[in-house]
Amino acid sequence: MVEKITLAHGSGGKASHELIEKLFVANFGGKSLLAMEDSAVLQAGKERIAFSTDSFVVDPIFFPGGDIGSLAIHGTVNDLAMRGAKPLYIAVAMIIEEGFAYRDLETIVRSLKAGADKAGVEIVAGDTKVVQSGKADKIFINTTGIGLLDMDIDISAGNGRPGDRIILSGTMADHGTTILCQREGLQIQGGFMSDSAPLNHMVAAMIEECGKSIHVLRDPTRGGVGTTLNELAQSSGVGIRIRETDLPVRDDVRGACELLGLDPLYLANEGKLLAFVEPGAVESLLAVMQKMEYGGNAGIIGEVVAEHPGQVVMQTSIGSSRIVDMLHGEPLPRIC
Ligand code: MG
Repeated sequence: MVEKITLAHGSGGKASHELIEKLFVANFGGKSLLAMEDSAVLQAGKERIAFSTDSFVVDPIFFPGGDIGSLAIHGTVNDLAMRGAKPLYIAVAMIIEEGFAYRDLETIVRSLKAGADKAGVEIVAGDTKVVQSGKADKIFINTTGIGLLDMDIDISAGNGRPGDRIILSGTMADHGTTILCQREGLQIQGGFMSDSAPLNHMVAAMIEECGKSIHVLRDPTRGGVGTTLNELAQSSGVGIRIRETDLPVRDDVRGACELLGLDPLYLANEGKLLAFVEPGAVESLLAVMQKMEYGGNAGIIGEVVAEHPGQVVMQTSIGSSRIVDMLHGEPLPRIC
């Protein structure tokens, strides 16, 4: 029995999953919630819509490659896109700490708008609350989004099948490493930059090229590729095999992770996606992705297998195998 909420409950790892299942799903119920997808797909009259919400508490609020405003747009846009939806409308709610600099708020608002323009979504509703100094940390932002889905698209965390190839759209851990280095004021050599980006245009191109051959899409944000692959293995009831030598990590990111004792497999990405794809479609899909702005380094990192359902097994660079488990908590709170 849990007595108090800990940081681990917000980490996206095992503790978060337990909280969601035992408290939220147990009380709210509903098939859609239980599926624990990036967004809910719902029937609204004649249309199928994707609906998603996300809160952003990142610390620091400004970082190389973005800020809390752009991140808040990208996060929700990407969660809609991961069901194959075309994101259309976003609502933005802010909780601001008394004393927050107007100029910083202006920068964040412009960043929200620029992010929305680039993703091709419209900010259509919002809310503002201000709490006393010390009762919140600078600014927290919630975004909620709606997207439209074609009738025949069925992309879900539960659709992975043995034989599917697993594609990762680019390098791992760029966002997590950048935030950590900024927060700790670490002077590590390297041009760290968050990968925060809207992925909906790439997803639209992928669907146009390969449509039904794409079974699963998910953005490996909090908890990284390691945690996300565990979620997908469990949702689909399949095993996953990945090869360490095929996991792309920038040299400077790898160096920083080694120095800090962190595994890039578990660090957040904010502009990457994992795709489970039928083998026959992999080549054409990779060709499409590699031409897009955020898919230049897309490659195959492993495959879905019938063995060891629910588990992720990695062939290491020295040829041995090890289980990649889901973390209990996350090494870095307030990463997004
Ligand atoms: Mg997501």
